[in-house]
Amino acid sequence: MTITTDTARLPLLLTTLRLPTIATLWPTISQTADEEGWPAAKTLATLFEHEVAERVRRRIGRHLTEARLPGGKTLDTFDFGAVPMVSRARIAALAEGDAWLGQGTNILCFGPPGVGKTHLSSALGHALIDAGYRVLFTRTTDLVQQLQTARQDLRLAAAIEKLDKYHLLILDDLSYVQKSQAETSVLFELISARYERRSMMITANQPFGAWDSIFPDPAMTVAAIDRLVHHAIILEMNTDSYRRKSAQARNTSSKAEPTAHPN
Ligand code: ADP
Ligand code: MG
Repeated sequence: MTITTDTARLPLLLTTLRLPTIATLWPTISQTADEEGWPAAKTLATLFEHEVAERVRRRIGRHLTEARLPGGKTLDTFDFGAVPMVSRARIAALAEGDAWLGQGTNILCFGPPGVGKTHLSSALGHALIDAGYRVLFTRTTDLVQQLQTARQDLRLAAAIEKLDKYHLLILDDLSYVQKSQAETSVLFELISARYERRSMMITANQPFGAWDSIFPDPAMTVAAIDRLVHHAIILEMNTDSYRRKSAQARNTSSKAEPTAHPN
C-alpha cells in the first residue's frame, strides 16, 4: 500500500473515534475495494458492518460472562425426549424473547430433583443472551443472602433496582429458601418490584402448596404467588430424574456388553 496523507492519518482517526475493528481491517478491505473498483458507499458499508458485527459479538460475550450460567447447559444438549410435557417448539418460541419479556411474564418450572429444571432454565438463558437480552442466573438462596445484606446496609431498593437491567432473572431452587434461616421478605420485595415489568424464571422442587415455608407469613406467601402467577407460563416437569435414568442406562449397557469394559 502506498503511504499517502490519508493512509497515514487513518489509524489515529480510527483510534480517536474508537473504531478498532475498522482500524484492523481497513488496509485489506480498502485494497480489495481499490482492486475491484468498489463504489465508495460499498466500501464504507462493508467497513461499518464489520465494526457493528464485532461490537455485537463482544457485547454478547460480556452478557454471557455477567449471566453466570452453569456451563454446557444449552438447548443443543437438552434432550426433549426425556420430558414429553415440555415441547421443543414452545421452548424455541420462548428462546426468542420478544413478547413475554416485554410484558414481564414469568416462567415457573416445577419438578422433582434431577428432571432438568436447572438445565432448561440455563439453556433458555443462553438462547436469550444470543438474542440480545441480558440475563442473570443465581441460586435463590445466594440472591436472598445478597439482598439481606443490602437491607442491613439500607440499600435494598438500590440493589433491587440494579437487577432491573436484566430482562430475565433466573432464580434456581426457590424451595431451598427457608424462612427459618433468614429474613426472606426481601424475596417478596424483589417479586413486587419486578411485577408486570421484568421477568423471572423460577425453578422449584415444590409446587405452591409448600411455599409457606419460604415466606414469613401466609399472607405474604399468597401475595407473592399471586404476583408471580398473574402473568406466568408454568412448566411442570413431573418425570423421572434424568440423572437416575442416565445412570441406569449406563448400568444396563455395561451389563449388556461385559467384554467392552474389561476393567
Ligand atoms: P434439576 O435442576 O431439575 O434438579 P438438572 O437440570 O440439574 O435437574 O439435571 C440433572 C442432570 O441431568 C444435569 O447434568 C443435566 O444436564 C442433566 N439433564 C437433565 N435433564 C436433561 C435433558 N432433558 N437432556 C439432557 N440432560 C439433562
Ligand atoms: Mg437444579
